[in-house]
Amino acid sequence: MAFRSGRHFLQIPGPTNVPDRVLRAIDYPTVDHRGPEFGHLGLEIIEGLKYVFQTQQPVVIYPASGTGAWEAALVNCLSPGDHVLMVETGHFASLWQKMAGKLGLQVELIATDWRRGADPAAVEAKLKEDKAHAIRAVCVVHNETSTGATSRIPLIRKAIDAASHPGLFMVDTISSLASIDYRHDEWGVDVTVAGSQKGLMLPPGLSFNAVSEKARKAGQSARLPKSYWAWEEMIAANKTGYFPYTPATNLLYGLREAILMLQEEGLHGVFARHARHAEATRRAVRAWGLEILCANAEEYSNTLTAVMMPAGHDADALRKRILEAYDMSLGTGLGRLAGKVFRIGHLGDFNDLALMGTLAGVEMGLALAGVPHQKGGTQTAADYLIECAGGSGAHRIAA
Ligand SMILES: *Cc1c(COP(=O)(O)O)cnc(C)c1O
Repeated sequence: MAFRSGRHFLQIPGPTNVPDRVLRAIDYPTVDHRGPEFGHLGLEIIEGLKYVFQTQQPVVIYPASGTGAWEAALVNCLSPGDHVLMVETGHFASLWQKMAGKLGLQVELIATDWRRGADPAAVEAKLKEDKAHAIRAVCVVHNETSTGATSRIPLIRKAIDAASHPGLFMVDTISSLASIDYRHDEWGVDVTVAGSQKGLMLPPGLSFNAVSEKARKAGQSARLPKSYWAWEEMIAANKTGYFPYTPATNLLYGLREAILMLQEEGLHGVFARHARHAEATRRAVRAWGLEILCANAEEYSNTLTAVMMPAGHDADALRKRILEAYDMSLGTGLGRLAGKVFRIGHLGDFNDLALMGTLAGVEMGLALAGVPHQKGGTQTAADYLIECAGGSGAHRIAA
């Protein structure tokens, strides 16, 4: 690899750019995780996570990737042969579904065209059909990272209630937590699955389950084997700030710093910033004359935008040119979207100028790779950001 000066632009939708404050927090000697110092750290984090998940209920922390927290959600609450209702919003939903199958669960699937979120009416209809209440859990990915569509979780909750169905509600927020508004308690979610490397601005390696009373109660009779993932030992040890096995101590230093940063900006500010950058990105994409994959404007993701390539052009060839020429990584098309879309991550530790650099890199890459497009998307995004900052684009000298 040739030497590259300056910062790499890591604009995939996770892992995201880790802020210097978090890197410095991690760069600290590892302490005895059973010693007195550690308990304070543990308690501080466990309390801080309640703010991030908008919950008063326990949040379990695993030294694992998000996939581990998916498994934890299923094995803590369910028994072999239990039915689960899943909505195949895209690649990540389909991976969770495959995992459920491997664990011996019976998946009832609502398919989609991978261009939208979970349809509340379809969920309600499926649950109404289930008169015997064989379905023990409804599993939805909040923000489908492969497509850039965000499901409307409060409406799915309403659909479950409208069907008077007693199933648990499990939501994957791996690419939405701490970026897009998400309320574990208020939205009546039983298990929220999250990970460290996206909105939480940490390196990969931590994942989470926020768990309701109802989920813990279901756990008492759940018969899928579990040991490493078992909630109750975690929750018991966490009461004094400790863990039943060695936690990822240095990542927890980083987590404490990331929570502080989120509190300083305030969740409201964090969500507004992500909404602004997502809207600016969509305006750029439209100005380029390219199509946004998500087909429902009410479900546009605020953390990433998947952009469709014009017919006959390969998204991965474009990504390769951009990486080589401008040292920027964009997200690849996953599963059936391979080669057809590229994904712009606009989440985590990010600001207006970082977005401008990102969009400029895409626009320059489109030109370099000979992908048909119109110029000016980057400028269109800039005009929107100026407007958001209280200015008007009118001061520019007319060309
Ligand atoms: C990234 C992601 C995952 C996978 O998490 P890993 O940390 O790679 O195991 C699952 N679901 C969604 C929605 C994601 O964005």
